[in-house]
Amino acid sequence: MKKIISDEHPRPSAQAAPLHEGLLKRALQRLDDVARRMDEDTQVLQRLQYPQEILEARLTIEMDDGSERSFPAWRCRYDDTRGPTKGGIRFHPESNAEEVETLAFWMTLKCAVMNLPYGGGKGAVQVDTHTLSQAELERLSRAYMRAFARFVGPDRDIPAPDVYTNAQVMGWMLDEYEKMIGHASPAVITGKPLTLGGSLGREDATARGAFYLLKHLEERLGLSASQKRVVIQGIGNVGGHMVQFLAEDGWRIVAVADSRHAIANPAGLNCRALLNAKKEGKSLISLATGNGTKEIAAGDIFSVDCDLLVPAALEDQIHDGNASSIKAGVVLELANGPITPIADQILAQAGVTVLPDILANAGGVTVSYFEWIQNRQGLCWPVAEIHSRLEQMMQTEGEMIWNMAQHKKLTVREAAYEIGVGRLVRAMHARGRS
Ligand code: NAD
Repeated sequence: MKKIISDEHPRPSAQAAPLHEGLLKRALQRLDDVARRMDEDTQVLQRLQYPQEILEARLTIEMDDGSERSFPAWRCRYDDTRGPTKGGIRFHPESNAEEVETLAFWMTLKCAVMNLPYGGGKGAVQVDTHTLSQAELERLSRAYMRAFARFVGPDRDIPAPDVYTNAQVMGWMLDEYEKMIGHASPAVITGKPLTLGGSLGREDATARGAFYLLKHLEERLGLSASQKRVVIQGIGNVGGHMVQFLAEDGWRIVAVADSRHAIANPAGLNCRALLNAKKEGKSLISLATGNGTKEIAAGDIFSVDCDLLVPAALEDQIHDGNASSIKAGVVLELANGPITPIADQILAQAGVTVLPDILANAGGVTVSYFEWIQNRQGLCWPVAEIHSRLEQMMQTEGEMIWNMAQHKKLTVREAAYEIGVGRLVRAMHARGRS
């Protein structure tokens, strides 16, 4: 089997800022490792060394003070072998082309792991949304859709929310798209406001899917007999909902972090106060008020004693410098790519089970798929139906991956990659040579 990434043809990294340098290469290395182990003819996977298409644009908007600012933006369709590309749009000051490509690559695998009829895509704008007014954010969201409208479409590429974007941003983008094409097309974007064709159950779908998976495997992960202490990094859309699901299930949230602060309390944080503080835009520090809750250094979040660790912020957070300090027996990846491949090996050697991103956080894209189906059929499914379909899909794919991992003595990530890659390879073969 030939290497998928060859050293003779290194990827150009000129456009990558240091934070993401090598991110795609490291991601492709995992694919390479899987391809070597698999019996199937994986030669076709050579195609995945590069994205199918990536478009870069400059978004220029008028600021509230009348001045003009430009922001770099990207949309990547990594691979559409299994269907139209699907993936979120991120607004983040450190986003760049390499991050977008890597996230789109992971979406390709995630959709295959969940057996959704989609390929993988992703988009981003390099912007600090905290510096924008609501009106500026709207102008930027509309500018994004104007720049990429020819790239997207219900049968081509279907965006959704990601870090620092939400249902409102999707609503503005949908409106801009429909104005451009001159007719309604709700299936072009998912994670929309309910009133514009969004699906019930989309808002908390990523965390809910992860929670269903965790409950399904709880006994086998040894968590039912544990002290049920959890640490969560990132308490935005997915992390915040996870706080709620786990607290309702009797878990003690012993530490959390956002982009600015980290707090801990071995007796358990007050979750209601935590979620209220987030909703009201208050700092986490406002909760460290002498009731056992203390501020800790952001870098110490991963070494807090706990049974379950949930990274729910950004990629590359757990690396060779901090992986060995992790006390949890299980890591549930709600973020995309939070663990580097070297850290993966350190955790595996230490006996830590990782429920990987391409399975664990797939609840979001799964309910996005439900939204797309409903939009195309003009239907609105009741929330109970959404939850039960999501639970069933997380359990089915989770069970298959878990069993393969046990049977072949693989990590759960390796098993998930084998299943996703196997589906991609079969689809590539079915399409034949072009
Ligand atoms: P969000 O913008 O709602 O929240 C992001 C959170 O991460 C915030 O609490 C922010 O303060 C925190 N954060 C940012 N940088 C941080 C840092 N350096 N250290 C600690 N915390 C930091 O975003 P989200 O939608 O919750 O997405 C979080 C992760 O989940 C991302 O990796 C995203 O790709 C992934 N994900 C999201 C979805 C979805 O449906 N939204 C689906 C699958 C995966």
